[in-house]
Amino acid sequence: MYMHFARKESTDKVYDLAVIGAGPAGSLAAALAARAGLSVIMFEQKKHPRTKICGGFLSGRAISLLPQDLELLSLQYEPVYQISVIKNRTPNTYNSKSRLGLVLKRDKLDQLLAEYAVRTGVKLKENETVESVQTVKPDGNNKDLYLLKSTKNKDVNIFANYLIVADGVNSNNAGKVGLPGKHSFYGWGLSKVINMESPVAETGTLKFYPLPFLGGMGWSFSGPKWTNHGVGGITGKKHLKKAYPKLFASDFEANPEDEKPNTWPLPFLGPLKKNAKYNSIVIGDAAGLVEPFSGEGLYNSFKSAHLAISAILKSMAKIDSQVAAAEIYNPLFRKHFYRAFIKTLPGAALLHARSIMAPSTLPSQIAALMGNSLWFNETFDLSSIGTDGLLVKDIGN
Ligand SMILES: Cc1cc2nc3c(=O)[nH]c(=O)nc-3n(C[C@H](O)[C@H](O)[C@H](O)COP(=O)(O)OP(=O)(O)OC[C@H]3O[C@@H](n4cnc5c(N)ncnc54)[C@H](O)[C@@H]3O)c2cc1C
Repeated sequence: MYMHFARKESTDKVYDLAVIGAGPAGSLAAALAARAGLSVIMFEQKKHPRTKICGGFLSGRAISLLPQDLELLSLQYEPVYQISVIKNRTPNTYNSKSRLGLVLKRDKLDQLLAEYAVRTGVKLKENETVESVQTVKPDGNNKDLYLLKSTKNKDVNIFANYLIVADGVNSNNAGKVGLPGKHSFYGWGLSKVINMESPVAETGTLKFYPLPFLGGMGWSFSGPKWTNHGVGGITGKKHLKKAYPKLFASDFEANPEDEKPNTWPLPFLGPLKKNAKYNSIVIGDAAGLVEPFSGEGLYNSFKSAHLAISAILKSMAKIDSQVAAAEIYNPLFRKHFYRAFIKTLPGAALLHARSIMAPSTLPSQIAALMGNSLWFNETFDLSSIGTDGLLVKDIGN
Protein backbone atom coordinates (compact mmCIF):
# COMPACT_ATOMS: atom_id res chain seq x y z
CA MET A 1 0.00 0.00 0.00
CA TYR A 2 1.74 3.17 -1.20
CA MET A 3 1.06 6.63 0.20
CA HIS A 4 1.78 10.10 -1.21
CA PHE A 5 3.70 12.18 1.26
CA ALA A 6 4.76 15.84 1.50
CA ARG A 7 8.40 15.70 2.58
CA LYS A 8 9.91 18.73 4.40
CA GLU A 9 13.14 19.30 2.41
CA SER A 10 14.75 21.21 5.28
CA THR A 11 14.37 18.69 8.11
CA ASP A 12 13.52 15.30 6.62
CA LYS A 13 16.79 13.56 5.81
CA VAL A 14 16.81 10.72 3.30
CA TYR A 15 19.32 8.01 4.23
CA ASP A 16 20.58 5.51 1.69
CA LEU A 17 19.79 2.71 4.14
CA ALA A 18 17.80 2.27 7.36
CA VAL A 19 18.42 -0.84 9.48
CA ILE A 20 15.96 -2.04 12.15
CA GLY A 21 17.70 -3.99 14.93
CA ALA A 22 21.35 -3.75 16.02
CA GLY A 23 21.92 -7.46 16.67
CA PRO A 24 24.80 -9.21 14.86
CA ALA A 25 22.94 -9.32 11.52
CA GLY A 26 21.86 -5.67 11.55
CA SER A 27 25.17 -4.28 12.84
CA LEU A 28 27.27 -6.17 10.29
CA ALA A 29 24.96 -5.16 7.41
CA ALA A 30 25.00 -1.51 8.55
CA ALA A 31 28.80 -1.51 8.86
CA LEU A 32 29.35 -3.12 5.44
CA ALA A 33 27.04 -0.53 3.86
CA ALA A 34 28.73 2.40 5.62
CA ARG A 35 32.15 1.12 4.58
CA ALA A 36 30.94 1.07 1.00
CA GLY A 37 30.06 4.78 1.35
CA LEU A 38 26.30 4.65 2.08
CA SER A 39 24.62 6.92 4.63
CA VAL A 40 23.11 4.53 7.20
CA ILE A 41 20.83 4.90 10.21
CA MET A 42 20.24 1.93 12.54
CA PHE A 43 17.58 1.62 15.27
CA GLU A 44 17.94 -0.60 18.34
CA GLN A 45 15.12 -0.88 20.86
CA LYS A 46 17.51 -1.65 23.73
CA LYS A 47 20.91 -0.27 24.71
CA HIS A 48 24.12 -2.26 24.31
CA PRO A 49 25.33 -4.27 26.11
CA ARG A 50 21.93 -6.00 26.09
CA THR A 51 21.23 -9.61 26.98
CA LYS A 52 20.67 -12.16 24.19
CA ILE A 53 20.08 -15.81 25.05
CA CYS A 54 22.74 -17.76 23.20
CA GLY A 55 25.36 -20.50 23.60
CA GLY A 56 28.04 -17.91 22.84
CA PHE A 57 29.94 -20.02 20.29
CA LEU A 58 31.24 -18.12 17.28
CA SER A 59 32.34 -20.67 14.66
CA GLY A 60 35.33 -20.35 12.34
CA ARG A 61 33.04 -19.96 9.35
CA ALA A 62 31.16 -17.12 11.09
CA ILE A 63 34.46 -15.41 11.98
CA SER A 64 35.52 -15.57 8.31
CA LEU A 65 32.64 -13.21 7.45
CA LEU A 66 33.67 -10.51 9.95
CA PRO A 67 35.91 -7.51 9.20
CA GLN A 68 39.48 -7.81 10.49
CA ASP A 69 39.52 -4.38 12.12
CA LEU A 70 36.57 -5.39 14.32
CA GLU A 71 39.16 -6.25 17.03
CA LEU A 72 37.26 -9.40 17.94
CA LEU A 73 40.18 -10.67 20.00
CA SER A 74 39.91 -7.68 22.33
CA LEU A 75 36.95 -9.52 23.90
CA GLN A 76 37.34 -12.16 26.61
CA TYR A 77 37.22 -15.46 24.75
CA GLU A 78 38.20 -19.11 24.86
CA PRO A 79 39.52 -20.68 21.64
CA VAL A 80 38.01 -24.07 20.80
CA TYR A 81 40.11 -26.98 19.47
CA GLN A 82 38.11 -29.95 20.72
CA ILE A 83 34.57 -31.32 20.33
CA SER A 84 33.20 -33.93 22.69
CA VAL A 85 29.91 -35.78 22.28
CA ILE A 86 28.75 -37.39 25.53
CA LYS A 87 26.50 -40.42 25.18
CA ASN A 88 25.60 -42.65 28.17
CA ARG A 89 28.17 -40.67 30.21
CA THR A 90 30.93 -41.70 27.77
CA PRO A 91 32.77 -38.85 26.00
CA ASN A 92 33.68 -39.28 22.33
CA THR A 93 36.25 -36.64 21.48
CA TYR A 94 37.66 -35.06 18.33
CA ASN A 95 40.84 -32.95 18.44
CA SER A 96 41.32 -30.39 15.73
CA LYS A 97 44.69 -28.99 14.60
CA SER A 98 43.07 -25.70 13.69
CA ARG A 99 40.89 -23.43 15.81
CA LEU A 100 37.19 -24.30 15.38
CA GLY A 101 35.89 -21.03 16.81
CA LEU A 102 35.62 -18.96 20.00
CA VAL A 103 33.43 -19.15 23.09
CA LEU A 104 32.54 -15.61 24.14
CA LYS A 105 29.77 -13.60 25.77
CA ARG A 106 27.03 -12.61 23.36
CA ASP A 107 26.25 -9.25 24.96
CA LYS A 108 29.89 -8.25 24.49
CA LEU A 109 30.06 -9.51 20.89
CA ASP A 110 26.89 -7.63 19.96
CA GLN A 111 28.13 -4.46 21.65
CA LEU A 112 31.45 -4.71 19.77
CA LEU A 113 29.64 -5.10 16.44
CA ALA A 114 27.30 -2.17 17.11
CA GLU A 115 30.24 0.04 18.18
CA TYR A 116 32.12 -1.04 15.07
CA ALA A 117 29.15 0.01 12.94
CA VAL A 118 29.25 3.45 14.60
CA ARG A 119 33.02 3.68 13.88
CA THR A 120 32.32 3.07 10.19
CA GLY A 121 29.89 6.03 10.15
CA VAL A 122 26.53 4.44 11.00
CA LYS A 123 24.16 6.66 12.97
CA LEU A 124 22.98 4.37 15.80
CA LYS A 125 19.76 5.22 17.63
CA GLU A 126 19.63 3.11 20.80
CA ASN A 127 16.60 2.82 23.09
CA GLU A 128 14.49 3.61 20.02
CA THR A 129 11.92 1.05 18.94
CA VAL A 130 10.75 1.35 15.34
CA GLU A 131 6.98 1.30 15.62
CA SER A 132 5.92 2.15 12.09
CA VAL A 133 7.35 1.55 8.63
CA GLN A 134 5.58 2.60 5.44
CA THR A 135 6.40 2.69 1.77
CA VAL A 136 5.72 6.28 0.62
CA LYS A 137 6.07 8.35 -2.53
CA PRO A 138 7.12 11.83 -1.41
CA ASP A 139 5.91 14.65 -3.66
CA GLY A 140 8.54 15.48 -6.26
CA ASN A 141 10.30 12.11 -5.88
CA ASN A 142 10.31 9.64 -8.72
CA LYS A 143 11.04 6.74 -6.36
CA ASP A 144 9.27 5.16 -3.41
CA LEU A 145 10.99 5.59 -0.08
CA TYR A 146 10.65 3.96 3.33
CA LEU A 147 9.33 6.17 6.10
CA LEU A 148 10.20 5.06 9.65
CA LYS A 149 9.00 6.39 12.96
CA SER A 150 10.31 5.39 16.36
CA THR A 151 8.60 5.38 19.74
CA LYS A 152 11.02 7.98 21.12
CA ASN A 153 10.72 10.57 18.35
CA LYS A 154 7.22 10.27 16.96
CA ASP A 155 7.42 13.64 15.20
CA VAL A 156 10.64 12.87 13.35
CA ASN A 157 10.34 11.38 9.85
CA ILE A 158 13.21 9.14 8.83
CA PHE A 159 13.29 8.38 5.10
CA ALA A 160 15.47 5.76 3.44
CA ASN A 161 15.91 4.43 -0.08
CA TYR A 162 16.66 0.91 1.18
CA LEU A 163 15.51 -0.95 4.28
CA ILE A 164 17.02 -3.89 6.15
CA VAL A 165 14.80 -5.59 8.73
CA ALA A 166 17.04 -7.35 11.29
CA ASP A 167 14.79 -7.25 14.34
CA GLY A 168 15.20 -10.88 15.39
CA VAL A 169 12.93 -13.90 15.63
CA ASN A 170 9.95 -11.94 16.99
CA SER A 171 10.15 -9.53 14.04
CA ASN A 172 7.08 -7.37 13.74
CA ASN A 173 8.48 -5.09 11.04
CA ALA A 174 8.80 -7.55 8.13
CA GLY A 175 5.01 -7.73 7.89
CA LYS A 176 4.82 -3.94 7.61
CA VAL A 177 6.64 -3.99 4.26
CA GLY A 178 4.58 -6.86 2.87
CA LEU A 179 6.90 -9.74 3.74
CA PRO A 180 6.04 -12.81 5.83
CA GLY A 181 6.13 -11.65 9.44
CA LYS A 182 6.35 -13.83 12.54
CA HIS A 183 7.46 -17.45 12.23
CA SER A 184 4.83 -20.11 12.81
CA PHE A 185 7.11 -23.08 13.55
CA TYR A 186 10.50 -23.04 15.23
CA GLY A 187 12.67 -24.87 17.71
CA TRP A 188 13.44 -23.68 21.21
CA GLY A 189 16.63 -23.17 23.14
CA LEU A 190 17.04 -22.88 26.91
CA SER A 191 20.29 -21.62 28.28
CA LYS A 192 21.98 -20.28 31.34
CA VAL A 193 25.38 -18.74 31.98
CA ILE A 194 27.06 -19.87 35.18
CA ASN A 195 29.66 -17.39 36.33
CA MET A 196 32.21 -19.80 37.71
CA GLU A 197 34.20 -22.75 36.57
CA SER A 198 31.48 -25.36 36.44
CA PRO A 199 32.14 -28.89 37.74
CA VAL A 200 31.68 -30.25 34.19
CA ALA A 201 33.56 -27.42 32.48
CA GLU A 202 36.50 -28.09 30.21
CA THR A 203 37.85 -24.99 28.53
CA GLY A 204 38.74 -25.31 24.86
CA THR A 205 36.13 -28.05 24.36
CA LEU A 206 32.58 -27.84 23.11
CA LYS A 207 30.58 -30.57 24.84
CA PHE A 208 27.38 -31.85 23.24
CA TYR A 209 24.76 -34.18 24.70
CA PRO A 210 22.59 -35.68 21.90
CA LEU A 211 18.82 -35.60 22.48
CA PRO A 212 17.75 -37.15 19.14
CA PHE A 213 14.19 -37.83 20.29
CA LEU A 214 13.74 -34.13 21.03
CA GLY A 215 15.31 -33.27 17.65
CA GLY A 216 18.12 -31.48 19.41
CA MET A 217 21.08 -31.46 21.79
CA GLY A 218 22.29 -30.24 25.13
CA TRP A 219 25.56 -28.28 25.35
CA SER A 220 28.20 -27.09 27.75
CA PHE A 221 30.50 -24.35 26.38
CA SER A 222 33.11 -22.90 28.69
CA GLY A 223 34.63 -19.45 28.50
CA PRO A 224 37.53 -18.19 30.67
CA LYS A 225 35.37 -17.60 33.78
CA TRP A 226 31.95 -18.86 32.87
CA THR A 227 30.13 -21.85 31.46
CA ASN A 228 27.11 -21.75 29.20
CA HIS A 229 24.74 -24.68 29.67
CA GLY A 230 21.74 -25.27 27.47
CA VAL A 231 19.38 -27.57 25.63
CA GLY A 232 17.74 -27.02 22.26
CA GLY A 233 15.31 -28.97 20.13
CA ILE A 234 12.13 -28.94 18.08
CA THR A 235 9.67 -30.77 20.32
CA GLY A 236 8.75 -27.76 22.45
CA LYS A 237 9.72 -26.04 25.68
CA LYS A 238 8.09 -28.59 28.01
CA HIS A 239 10.40 -31.45 26.98
CA LEU A 240 13.47 -29.24 27.06
CA LYS A 241 12.66 -27.99 30.56
CA LYS A 242 12.67 -31.61 31.72
CA ALA A 243 15.90 -32.45 29.87
CA TYR A 244 17.92 -29.53 31.28
CA PRO A 245 18.01 -30.53 34.98
CA LYS A 246 18.75 -34.13 34.03
CA LEU A 247 21.87 -33.04 32.15
CA PHE A 248 22.98 -30.26 34.48
CA ALA A 249 21.79 -31.28 37.94
CA SER A 250 24.91 -29.72 39.46
CA ASP A 251 23.70 -26.21 38.46
CA PHE A 252 20.75 -26.58 40.80
CA GLU A 253 22.67 -28.29 43.61
CA ALA A 254 25.37 -25.59 43.69
CA ASN A 255 22.97 -22.63 43.65
CA PRO A 256 19.37 -23.75 44.27
CA GLU A 257 18.16 -20.13 44.45
CA ASP A 258 19.61 -19.26 41.04
CA GLU A 259 17.46 -18.14 38.13
CA LYS A 260 16.09 -20.86 35.86
CA PRO A 261 17.48 -21.12 32.30
CA ASN A 262 15.87 -18.67 29.89
CA THR A 263 14.09 -19.74 26.71
CA TRP A 264 14.25 -18.25 23.22
CA PRO A 265 13.00 -19.47 19.80
CA LEU A 266 15.29 -20.98 17.16
CA PRO A 267 13.74 -20.18 13.75
CA PHE A 268 15.03 -22.40 10.93
CA LEU A 269 12.35 -22.62 8.22
CA GLY A 270 13.01 -19.15 6.77
CA PRO A 271 14.78 -20.42 3.62
CA LEU A 272 11.35 -21.62 2.43
CA LYS A 273 9.94 -18.08 2.60
CA LYS A 274 10.38 -14.93 0.55
CA ASN A 275 12.57 -12.40 2.29
CA ALA A 276 12.83 -9.37 0.03
CA LYS A 277 10.34 -7.03 -1.60
CA TYR A 278 11.10 -3.90 -3.63
CA ASN A 279 14.03 -2.30 -1.73
CA SER A 280 13.50 -4.02 1.64
CA ILE A 281 15.32 -7.17 2.77
CA VAL A 282 14.81 -9.27 5.92
CA ILE A 283 17.97 -10.88 7.37
CA GLY A 284 19.24 -12.95 10.32
CA ASP A 285 16.76 -14.52 12.78
CA ALA A 286 13.99 -12.27 11.44
CA ALA A 287 14.38 -14.26 8.21
CA GLY A 288 14.49 -17.60 10.13
CA LEU A 289 17.98 -18.71 9.10
CA VAL A 290 19.24 -20.80 12.05
CA GLU A 291 21.10 -24.00 11.08
CA PRO A 292 18.62 -26.86 11.75
CA PHE A 293 20.99 -29.42 13.32
CA SER A 294 23.26 -27.31 15.52
CA GLY A 295 21.13 -24.20 16.20
CA GLU A 296 24.06 -22.06 15.00
CA GLY A 297 22.61 -18.75 13.83
CA LEU A 298 25.47 -16.26 13.68
CA TYR A 299 27.00 -17.66 10.49
CA ASN A 300 23.78 -17.36 8.49
CA SER A 301 23.06 -13.95 10.06
CA PHE A 302 26.39 -12.70 8.70
CA LYS A 303 25.91 -14.48 5.38
CA SER A 304 22.51 -12.84 4.88
CA ALA A 305 24.02 -9.44 5.80
CA HIS A 306 26.66 -9.84 3.06
CA LEU A 307 24.10 -10.95 0.48
CA ALA A 308 21.76 -8.07 1.37
CA ILE A 309 24.48 -5.41 1.07
CA SER A 310 25.74 -6.95 -2.16
CA ALA A 311 22.20 -6.71 -3.60
CA ILE A 312 21.75 -3.11 -2.39
CA LEU A 313 25.09 -1.99 -3.85
CA LYS A 314 24.24 -3.61 -7.19
CA SER A 315 20.78 -2.03 -7.17
CA MET A 316 22.32 1.40 -6.48
CA ALA A 317 24.76 0.92 -9.36
CA LYS A 318 21.74 0.36 -11.61
CA ILE A 319 19.87 3.36 -10.26
CA ASP A 320 18.98 4.71 -13.72
CA SER A 321 17.28 1.50 -14.76
CA GLN A 322 15.60 1.33 -11.31
CA VAL A 323 16.40 -2.31 -10.58
CA ALA A 324 15.03 -2.97 -7.09
CA ALA A 325 17.23 -4.71 -4.52
CA ALA A 326 14.70 -7.56 -4.24
CA GLU A 327 15.19 -8.43 -7.91
CA ILE A 328 18.87 -9.04 -7.15
CA TYR A 329 18.49 -10.46 -3.62
CA ASN A 330 15.75 -13.03 -4.26
CA PRO A 331 17.80 -15.11 -6.76
CA LEU A 332 20.84 -14.85 -4.44
CA PHE A 333 18.69 -16.00 -1.51
CA ARG A 334 17.34 -18.91 -3.55
CA LYS A 335 20.84 -20.00 -4.46
CA HIS A 336 22.55 -19.51 -1.10
CA PHE A 337 19.72 -20.33 1.36
CA TYR A 338 16.79 -22.15 -0.26
CA ARG A 339 18.84 -24.69 -2.25
CA ALA A 340 21.33 -25.13 0.57
CA PHE A 341 18.47 -25.74 3.04
CA ILE A 342 16.89 -28.48 0.93
CA LYS A 343 20.16 -30.42 1.26
CA THR A 344 20.63 -29.45 4.90
CA LEU A 345 17.39 -31.06 6.14
CA PRO A 346 18.35 -34.68 5.26
CA GLY A 347 21.86 -33.82 6.46
CA ALA A 348 20.46 -32.83 9.88
CA ALA A 349 18.38 -36.03 10.06
CA LEU A 350 21.48 -38.13 9.26
CA LEU A 351 23.48 -36.39 11.99
CA HIS A 352 20.73 -37.13 14.55
CA ALA A 353 20.72 -40.79 13.38
CA ARG A 354 24.51 -40.88 13.76
CA SER A 355 24.16 -39.72 17.37
CA ILE A 356 22.18 -42.92 18.05
CA MET A 357 23.97 -45.43 15.80
CA ALA A 358 27.58 -44.22 15.81
CA PRO A 359 28.12 -41.47 18.42
CA SER A 360 31.91 -41.81 18.26
CA THR A 361 31.84 -40.44 14.70
CA LEU A 362 29.68 -37.41 15.55
CA PRO A 363 32.33 -35.02 16.99
CA SER A 364 34.35 -34.93 13.75
CA GLN A 365 31.11 -34.42 11.80
CA ILE A 366 30.11 -31.47 14.01
CA ALA A 367 33.58 -29.97 13.48
CA ALA A 368 33.18 -30.45 9.71
CA LEU A 369 29.71 -28.85 9.81
CA MET A 370 31.12 -25.79 11.56
CA GLY A 371 34.06 -25.74 9.16
CA ASN A 372 31.60 -25.79 6.23
CA SER A 373 32.99 -29.02 4.79
CA LEU A 374 30.16 -31.58 5.06
CA TRP A 375 28.55 -32.84 1.84
CA PHE A 376 25.49 -30.64 2.34
CA ASN A 377 27.40 -27.47 3.28
CA GLU A 378 27.42 -24.73 0.70
CA THR A 379 30.72 -23.13 -0.27
CA PHE A 380 30.07 -19.45 0.23
CA ASP A 381 32.45 -17.35 -1.79
CA LEU A 382 32.35 -13.66 -0.86
CA SER A 383 34.33 -12.69 -3.94
CA SER A 384 31.47 -13.95 -6.11
CA ILE A 385 29.04 -11.49 -4.48
CA GLY A 386 31.46 -8.59 -4.25
CA THR A 387 31.68 -7.81 -0.52
CA ASP A 388 35.03 -9.53 0.10
CA GLY A 389 36.90 -6.26 -0.41
CA LEU A 390 35.65 -5.23 3.03
CA LEU A 391 37.28 -8.19 4.77
CA VAL A 392 40.64 -9.81 5.32
CA LYS A 393 40.98 -13.49 5.79
CA ASP A 394 43.10 -13.97 8.92
CA ILE A 395 42.24 -12.62 12.37
CA GLY A 396 45.04 -14.43 14.21
CA ASN A 397 44.91 -17.09 16.90
C1 LIG B 1 19.45 -20.79 23.31
C2 LIG B 1 20.13 -20.32 22.07
C3 LIG B 1 21.49 -20.59 21.88
C4 LIG B 1 22.13 -20.17 20.70
N1 LIG B 1 23.47 -20.41 20.59
C5 LIG B 1 24.14 -20.01 19.47
C6 LIG B 1 25.55 -20.20 19.36
O1 LIG B 1 26.21 -20.66 20.28
N2 LIG B 1 26.15 -19.81 18.20
C7 LIG B 1 25.44 -19.25 17.17
O2 LIG B 1 26.03 -18.97 16.12
N3 LIG B 1 24.10 -19.01 17.28
C8 LIG B 1 23.43 -19.36 18.40
N4 LIG B 1 22.10 -19.08 18.54
C9 LIG B 1 21.40 -18.34 17.47
C10 LIG B 1 21.75 -16.84 17.52
O3 LIG B 1 21.58 -16.36 18.84
C11 LIG B 1 20.84 -16.03 16.57
O4 LIG B 1 20.84 -16.65 15.31
C12 LIG B 1 21.34 -14.57 16.44
O5 LIG B 1 21.12 -13.86 17.62
C13 LIG B 1 20.62 -13.83 15.28
O6 LIG B 1 21.03 -12.48 15.26
P1 LIG B 1 20.05 -11.33 14.73
O7 LIG B 1 20.88 -10.10 14.65
O8 LIG B 1 19.33 -11.79 13.53
O9 LIG B 1 18.92 -11.19 15.86
P2 LIG B 1 19.01 -10.68 17.37
O10 LIG B 1 20.33 -11.04 17.95
O11 LIG B 1 17.80 -11.19 18.03
O12 LIG B 1 18.94 -9.10 17.24
C14 LIG B 1 17.75 -8.42 16.89
C15 LIG B 1 17.81 -7.01 17.49
O13 LIG B 1 16.69 -6.25 17.04
C16 LIG B 1 16.23 -5.43 18.11
N5 LIG B 1 14.82 -5.05 17.80
C17 LIG B 1 13.74 -5.86 17.76
N6 LIG B 1 12.63 -5.16 17.40
C18 LIG B 1 13.04 -3.88 17.21
C19 LIG B 1 12.37 -2.68 16.83
N7 LIG B 1 11.05 -2.65 16.55
N8 LIG B 1 13.08 -1.53 16.76
C20 LIG B 1 14.42 -1.52 17.03
N9 LIG B 1 15.10 -2.64 17.39
C21 LIG B 1 14.43 -3.80 17.47
C22 LIG B 1 16.40 -6.34 19.33
O14 LIG B 1 16.44 -5.61 20.53
C23 LIG B 1 17.73 -7.03 19.01
O15 LIG B 1 18.84 -6.34 19.54
C24 LIG B 1 21.42 -19.48 19.70
C25 LIG B 1 20.06 -19.19 19.88
C26 LIG B 1 19.43 -19.60 21.06
C27 LIG B 1 17.97 -19.26 21.24
